[in-house]
Amino acid sequence: MSERSYPDPDITMESETYWQAANDGKLLVKRCDSCNEVHFYPRAICPGCMSDNTVWQEASGKGRIYSYSVMRRADPPYAIAYVTLEEGITMLTNIVDADFNALSVDMPVEVTFRDTEGGQALPLFRPAKD
Ligand SMILES: [Zn+2]
Repeated sequence: MSERSYPDPDITMESETYWQAANDGKLLVKRCDSCNEVHFYPRAICPGCMSDNTVWQEASGKGRIYSYSVMRRADPPYAIAYVTLEEGITMLTNIVDADFNALSVDMPVEVTFRDTEGGQALPLFRPAKD
């Protein structure tokens, strides 16, 4: 099955660790040690309480589709989705390795990775195997 190509992300000082971990096959989120909330996109300052006491945490990589949209007129077609992780944050992402007709809200998904045009690993999601 042919698949869309993915543009390179903008990598900032705040997100550099996140992207390096993706290259190692890991999905990281940021947790705040002051209020214990997890947030995404990763930021140095907690968006909940403005503390700079934030730490990296490896996510389980498991979540559920919150909402999705299949771009059927694109060539090749692709599916974008909001996925809510077990950690409680919601990411805008793509669903791959899936029958787009079988997608549904609340479907369990797991993280997988694709290389961007420039070779950066990009976390995406596919239907969970179990
Ligand atoms: Zn906080």
